[in-house]
Amino acid sequence: MTDSDASTHITRLAPSPTGALHLGNARTFLVNYLLARQRHWRILMRMEDLDSPRVKPWAAQQAIDDLQWLSIAWDSTVAKQSDRGEAYRCALDELIESSDAYPCVCSRKDIQQAGAAPHRDDHITVYPGSCRGKYASVREAEQLTGRPAAWRVRVDSAPIVFDDHFAGRCEINLAETCGDFVIFRNEGLAGYQLAVVVDDAHEGVDAIVRGDDLLESAARQIHLRRLLALGPEPEYWHVPLVTGADGRRLAKRHGDTRLSHYRQMGVSPRRILGLLGFWCGLGDEPREMDMSELIETFDLSGLPGAPVIFDDACESFLTS
Ligand code: GLU
Repeated sequence: MTDSDASTHITRLAPSPTGALHLGNARTFLVNYLLARQRHWRILMRMEDLDSPRVKPWAAQQAIDDLQWLSIAWDSTVAKQSDRGEAYRCALDELIESSDAYPCVCSRKDIQQAGAAPHRDDHITVYPGSCRGKYASVREAEQLTGRPAAWRVRVDSAPIVFDDHFAGRCEINLAETCGDFVIFRNEGLAGYQLAVVVDDAHEGVDAIVRGDDLLESAARQIHLRRLLALGPEPEYWHVPLVTGADGRRLAKRHGDTRLSHYRQMGVSPRRILGLLGFWCGLGDEPREMDMSELIETFDLSGLPGAPVIFDDACESFLTS
């Protein structure tokens, strides 16, 4: 599959400042950056800083410093989701107006007690639709229950089908994977799915490269885009993540793999880029590389189709 009219694409780097960037995050950003530079896409930077209380005050600047340290660059100023509340609210109003969104006062416990099926191993519970069609307005929901209401969007039972340039054809049935999902939280903040869709459309983003843990999110985002009539869907490249030797997604339990940690230790960016390049399928073993060599030699078709593993050999390449 070739991407359409590649010269006009706009992509974005979208870190969530909820913690420090680690090698796994860096590898996904690098794939995005290399594809964009090779294909002459425009690269935007968006800070996805809505997820309070998980957002850390230092993490946005640190993400920027870490990426710049690796020579990952962008062609815009840094947009912040925390500045865009009004746009998200307008989108919500549209979905309320069309009756696609409804107020929900369920707590996590209510949903579990309703016998909702826990989904896969990632603790997502399929919402059983308890509040669907129950309240005429958010005020009614809050007055009758004494609880703050969130907003959910209705999903269809027909699957969302899309072709991902890396993951291939995807067919995701939202009624089975998550059910009606939250788009505005009860503290009055937009949820991730709605914010991303509104921002991508606003900024003209039409090429999205990210970890394949977000494949199901792509289906949710396509659903929202269609309801909001936001025009053609972006093209997607969802790539496998980096895991530890135990097969679990890279995290603290695998040691300190934060970029800031290696920076402090004096590890050179060439070494980090070399490991990330190796994880992109370049070479039989890691060796130091700089960004211009990566841009020249990266080949998406050589990117491993399975998760890559951070193990002791990787750590000793970086630190020995
Ligand atoms: N902010 C998200 C993350 O760091 C990425 C969202 C996206 O690319 O749509 O996982």
